Amino acid sequence: MDDLLNALADKGVRGETPTRDEALAVLRTSDDDLLDVVAAAGKVRRRWFGRRVKLNYLVNLKSGLCPEDCSYCSQRLGSRTGILTYSWLKPDEAAEAAAAGVRGGAKRVCVVASGRGPTDRDVSRVSETIEAIKERDEQVEVCACLGLLSDGQAERLRRAGADAYNHNLNTSEATYGDICTTHTYEDRVSTVERARDAGLSPCSGLIAGMGESDEDLVDVVFSLRELDADSVPVNFLLPFEGTPLADEWNMTPQRALRILAMVRFVCPDVEVRLAAGREVHLRSLQPLALYLANSLFLGDYLTSEGQAGTADLEMIRDAGFVVEDTATATLPAHRRGRRADGAERVNGAERVTGADGTNGAGGVDAVPAGGVAGGEPAVADRPARPHERVAVRRRGAGTELPPNA
Ligand code: SF4
Repeated sequence: MDDLLNALADKGVRGETPTRDEALAVLRTSDDDLLDVVAAAGKVRRRWFGRRVKLNYLVNLKSGLCPEDCSYCSQRLGSRTGILTYSWLKPDEAAEAAAAGVRGGAKRVCVVASGRGPTDRDVSRVSETIEAIKERDEQVEVCACLGLLSDGQAERLRRAGADAYNHNLNTSEATYGDICTTHTYEDRVSTVERARDAGLSPCSGLIAGMGESDEDLVDVVFSLRELDADSVPVNFLLPFEGTPLADEWNMTPQRALRILAMVRFVCPDVEVRLAAGREVHLRSLQPLALYLANSLFLGDYLTSEGQAGTADLEMIRDAGFVVEDTATATLPAHRRGRRADGAERVNGAERVTGADGTNGAGGVDAVPAGGVAGGEPAVADRPARPHERVAVRRRGAGTELPPNA
């Protein structure tokens, strides 16, 4: 075990990718080795991102009533989850919601809309929203997440000031048809490629805990590496009542940490983001995840409640990490400014340089996003499910109540 972890840490520090077998071995380590796994992946995280934690804030521009059938999603066609449903927020409403997250410490705002993909009119609306957010604060990074993109839409978003585009692969190509029948894995890949080719920083991640195998998890993370995603949100399934996956409950805090460690080893110099489900599945082990991920969503998710924003800040401080400021570029120097059009992909990319790529500092899919690892106890042997149901978001965007930021 020591040999494996030393080899993985050495590769990660050099920015090299492990083999598939090594990645699989991380998922199959025992609980006895958990802290050693976290320590080894923590070295890689520290090499590229110091002790910095980037905060991101979600604004759900349009909630629910999606015609697609993604089985994990509370916004899907026929969902009986009882989430907030509303149509497009006006640009000033969205900018107001975004400002709450920025005040809470977020440097990136993720504007998200349910649906298969935007119409050209939707892209115009979102462009106005991006401009309204940037008018209030030009330093804030904006990531759009609007579903499948058609020709020219990524370029329009880029021209409106979007820095990044999120579209998660969610799971492996082999199992994609099990979680969704209305679009394909290939559709998702091509949208990430369109965004990347338009000069937007590609953000694409996964959802763990949907019944996938270890091999599926390794496959999707290697695919994300191949797609050259700059940020990889790691969601843990929120089993919403009223969705087909409501009874999937096969994640433990230890397995969640092993998955994050595997993602860090495979994507050593990439922003690994703790996303939906971290509170529900990591529970009291959340601070350990900061040694693996260098980014998280502050406050609530699209349709579910997250931990209080103030509790996130306290957790980061108590664990000895620091919130990343807007003057510090998130990504190491070698990952910045590599787009074909020469466009700088992310705000602040030119602001900080560091010969060692560490920026010289010491420090939810967006859509909410199980396999059982070898050696883990059977589901029935585990502690009782701590939450009978996921708490649906009832405050913030689309309501009269103040947001959690
Ligand atoms: S994940 Fe997106 S496309 Fe799929 S059902 Fe939910 S909102 Fe619709």
